[in-house]
Amino acid sequence: MLEDRYGRRFSYLRLSITDVCNFRCHYCLPDGYQCESSRDFLSLPEIKTTVAAFSQLGTKKVRITGGEPSLRKDLPQIIETVANTTGIEQVAITTNGYKLPQQIQSWIDAGLTSLNVSVDSLDPRLFESITGHDKLDTILQGIEIANKAGLPVKVNSVLMDQVKGEGFQRFLDWIKHKSISVRFIELMQTGDNLSLFNVQHQSGQSLKDKLLSQGWTRVLKESTAGPAQEFQHPDYLGKIGLIMPYSKGFCESCNRLRISSLGQLHLCLFAEKGLDLRPFMRSEDVAGLQTELKRLLQDKASGHWLDQGITGATKHLAMIGG
Ligand code: SAM
Ligand code: SF4
Repeated sequence: MLEDRYGRRFSYLRLSITDVCNFRCHYCLPDGYQCESSRDFLSLPEIKTTVAAFSQLGTKKVRITGGEPSLRKDLPQIIETVANTTGIEQVAITTNGYKLPQQIQSWIDAGLTSLNVSVDSLDPRLFESITGHDKLDTILQGIEIANKAGLPVKVNSVLMDQVKGEGFQRFLDWIKHKSISVRFIELMQTGDNLSLFNVQHQSGQSLKDKLLSQGWTRVLKESTAGPAQEFQHPDYLGKIGLIMPYSKGFCESCNRLRISSLGQLHLCLFAEKGLDLRPFMRSEDVAGLQTELKRLLQDKASGHWLDQGITGATKHLAMIGG
């Protein structure tokens, strides 16, 4: 099992397969994708080697992310490769869902076990103003198809002004009869978004207080679960989650490691730098990769310093996958 010097165990890998994205979410890539590094993204054999190495060290869940992972034409094969790796029990994806209705069945057929779709607003105009794309209806259709097929669906929404007033109520109405978990993520500062962060960042605490006062109660979580605090209500089929990276003790239960689309290990979303594992991936050296991984893991810091405005090398989350 992968364990760091603080006794934290890592059973969850977030694997970025591209840093390219077609959206322009204004907290992430407001000017759209700018090609800042090589586009020599991990190949299928390299992904196979990586996931084999992690799974033999106790990884049970892999989340495929990006950039926008669905821009890769070989995504079904990537999902299949991860799903067929011995020891991997859950294969999830985080996507903007811009082509979800056409793509979702092939992902399910390939072995996908859960889906996260980013939907920052249920108001089509607001959605378009945040992402730069008039795609809300298509994305919601795709979510409906996934939900009907029985795939667990979570919706990520970055906590900004869009949930003030009517915005939050729209989400509540939407999940009343749908088994979907909507997770509000506190806006995180990155190298590129300081001015937006200064205006838009808000703590999830007031939303949490509101939920508790309206009869929502905390749900207990599994060991491979993410950092969301989840809430349920007897009148709602869906759930609400809150991800509050600025809250005290957030990093104490960290259970995930990240691999970038160029094969670098990121010990934290806000680490100072990525650590190169690509040579082991290229030469399909599972044992070598494991030895290096265990060594590097001992340098994982106890937590991030986001509260002090220290964002490490992370200019935006499309770089490593959020
Ligand atoms: N393109 C895919 C998507 O948007 O779902 C996957 C990559 S995206 C970087 C992963 C998640 O990070 C999305 O849910 C996005 O909303 C979230 N995200 C991006 N930048 C963020 C920020 N500065 N603070 C909080 N969440 C952010
Ligand atoms: Fe693209 Fe996702 Fe970033 Fe939006 S949050 S710009 S969809 S990578």
